[in-house]
Amino acid sequence: MVSMKERKYDVAIIGAGVIGCSLAYYLTTRGINNVVLIEKEEFPGTGSTSKANGGIRAQFTTEPHVQMSLLSMRLLEEMDEEMQSQARYVKAGYLFVTARSENFKKLKELVQFQQRLGVAVELLDKSQIEAGYTYLRTDDLVGGSYGKQDGFIDPGGLTYAYYSRALARGVQFLANTRATGLLFKENRVYGVKTDKGDVLAELIVNAAGPYAAVVANWANVSLPLEPVKRNIGVTGPTPDFPNPIPMTIDLDTGLVIRREGEGCSMAWADPDEPPGFNLQFDPNFIEKIAPKMEKRFPKLMEAGINFSKCWAGLYPETPDHHAILGESGVSGFLLATGLGGHGVMHAPAVGFTLSEFIATGQSTTLDLAPFTLQRFKTGKLNIERAVL
Ligand SMILES: Cc1cc2nc3c(=O)[nH]c(=O)nc-3n(C[C@H](O)[C@H](O)[C@H](O)COP(=O)(O)OP(=O)(O)OC[C@H]3O[C@@H](n4cnc5c(N)ncnc54)[C@H](O)[C@@H]3O)c2cc1C
Repeated sequence: MVSMKERKYDVAIIGAGVIGCSLAYYLTTRGINNVVLIEKEEFPGTGSTSKANGGIRAQFTTEPHVQMSLLSMRLLEEMDEEMQSQARYVKAGYLFVTARSENFKKLKELVQFQQRLGVAVELLDKSQIEAGYTYLRTDDLVGGSYGKQDGFIDPGGLTYAYYSRALARGVQFLANTRATGLLFKENRVYGVKTDKGDVLAELIVNAAGPYAAVVANWANVSLPLEPVKRNIGVTGPTPDFPNPIPMTIDLDTGLVIRREGEGCSMAWADPDEPPGFNLQFDPNFIEKIAPKMEKRFPKLMEAGINFSKCWAGLYPETPDHHAILGESGVSGFLLATGLGGHGVMHAPAVGFTLSEFIATGQSTTLDLAPFTLQRFKTGKLNIERAVL
């Protein structure tokens, strides 16, 4: 038997979340099968990936994000039947609504921008929303937008689709193995120290999600990445709501709802949430969002809250809300992290383009320049405004 130290991999990926698993899978599609996934937990996809809301949308405010979503959607469509049934891409749409004229004006410009980039999105007036979406309060609305390619995917299913295919093609999965440092020779990283021994590889990829800044530190690389908690409240049964409903966003309050089991889930970005690794559901969350529920989704107030189903998880956040992909500045050490609140939906595109970069030295499918670590040095950041 070859010991961990004797075997040398082409690529070692730290972290088997949806990003690490997607990358492992797409590497095998390019003939790079001598790959290892190093994961501190027993199973893949139990970190942020397991906490995701499962939304997928192309309604973003920056071109790199729109392009990444469109590529992900195309890759999901092109998956074979078995992978598609695991990923469960359901085009239930994303519906943004507003009761404010100034927000509607911005939405109008945004829809034009997205349409120019090829997004299937349309502007809706008040009467269209009234006619199509009876579960929300509409009397005060000005209008909204609806993206019909948008919808949902199953975060665990997508991760498993990538993971199981990657393993079938020879990728090794080191479960319950915590990376604790990196191995250097002449300023080049050539392996990963773990609590089970050293793992040697030609290339190491940091896909540690919210922990990626800790991992990068081992190479003296400073990542502008913080773990930021997001809470998800879940109501009791909502039998009057259609199933599914689109991911529905009240632009004026920031409240986001979708169907979740027999009820609905509610997400909201709390601006007072300090960065940190705290995973406890905020006991005051429902109190904070109650006025927002009442304003736009009054029917939810009748459903009550199912506290046993509420949860919280971590966004691996960056200052401009774009991922950090590619070169780290240290030879042999790449980055695949900082996906914030869109890591599941962008995982197909990230795995596809980064594997192309690793295999060929460039990415022709999608320009990775907007996602480099170097962008933070220029000070010219292209900030994503549609952060949910
Ligand atoms: C409440 C919530 C809702 C969300 N909703 C959506 C959504 O609707 N749509 C969407 O696209 N995204 C959503 N996201 C974001 C999405 O979940 C993340 O962007 C995505 O899961 C990041 O994937 P990852 O693989 O980078 O991180 P992770 O899934 O966290 O994977 C990183 C892995 O690295 C492992 N690891 C860390 N350190 C080490 C170490 N030292 N050694 C070994 N292993 C290590 C961890 O155990 C983990 O398994 C949501 C997130 C949250 C919290």
